[in-house]
Amino acid sequence: MSQQTISLPKTTIEQMKKHYAAYLETAPQWAVFRAKTPAATITAYASGKVLFQGKEPEAEMRKWAGEQSAAKKKQTKQPVSSKYTPPAHLFTSSHIGSDESGTGDYFGPITTCAIYIKEDQIKLLKEIGIQDSKAITDDTIQLLSSALLEMEIPYSLMILHNEKYNQLQQQGWSQGKMKTMLHDACIKKVKEKITHAPLEGILIDQFCQPNIYIKHLATENRHLDPHTYFITKAENHSIAVAAASILARASFVREMERLSEWIDQPLLKGASQKVDQLIAKIIREHGTEVLHKIAKVHFANTKKAQQLLKH
Ligand code: MN
Repeated sequence: MSQQTISLPKTTIEQMKKHYAAYLETAPQWAVFRAKTPAATITAYASGKVLFQGKEPEAEMRKWAGEQSAAKKKQTKQPVSSKYTPPAHLFTSSHIGSDESGTGDYFGPITTCAIYIKEDQIKLLKEIGIQDSKAITDDTIQLLSSALLEMEIPYSLMILHNEKYNQLQQQGWSQGKMKTMLHDACIKKVKEKITHAPLEGILIDQFCQPNIYIKHLATENRHLDPHTYFITKAENHSIAVAAASILARASFVREMERLSEWIDQPLLKGASQKVDQLIAKIIREHGTEVLHKIAKVHFANTKKAQQLLKH
């Protein structure tokens, strides 16, 4: 005898109860119904869990498993669109894309880039392989970054070095506010470079809700440009955001190399346990103060490394 459990929506469980009307048995406590067919015993609970037991539980389960995936799909559905959702034609029109890099890495700065892509450049950029920087290796990123720079595309790149980052963080700036002000500054600079060029809109790779972004801007007396849009994973939709992600990442990688040379130690990306061990080594060799120049010190990794040193 084998058994299988799946979770189903309440409406499906009601349907099942009707479907198995001829097979219903006394239900145990907490169960909505129990039915015994030649293939299996089916017990459905108010929680949505449905248990299939007996000779061939799969034979009965197969009839309903489709409802399960439909229910799951509903849960992962995109959030409803708002006035900040980019219109579909934006991706094929002249627009500015903006993205950042380094926010989840303990070592190294945050780099941000905004870039202006003209409608007639989109096809070529796709052809040379401009895509999400997370999907490609550091070497390819350097190649694509050089290709973009040769094309003399208007862009603005900003690096928030660690000392300044740590200072702002101490002053109470969240990383969200730092990112907001960096995106805003880059976009402003690019707009100044393209005053007469056609511009359908500005697309920011969404890292927080648009109203939070607008709130951060307001704390520094800045306002959202009209026709500014947000979407998560924007680099999958927009060549401009993909190009911005490549330039931002290339800059982050360069900065990591520079910092590694400066401290004479290859620094690791990310914020893993290996990073904790590396921090401990650096503290042992250079002291804690040096971290302010090379790391985002408020990350939990600093404390974890200090714990490692106690043992
Ligand atoms: Mn991003």
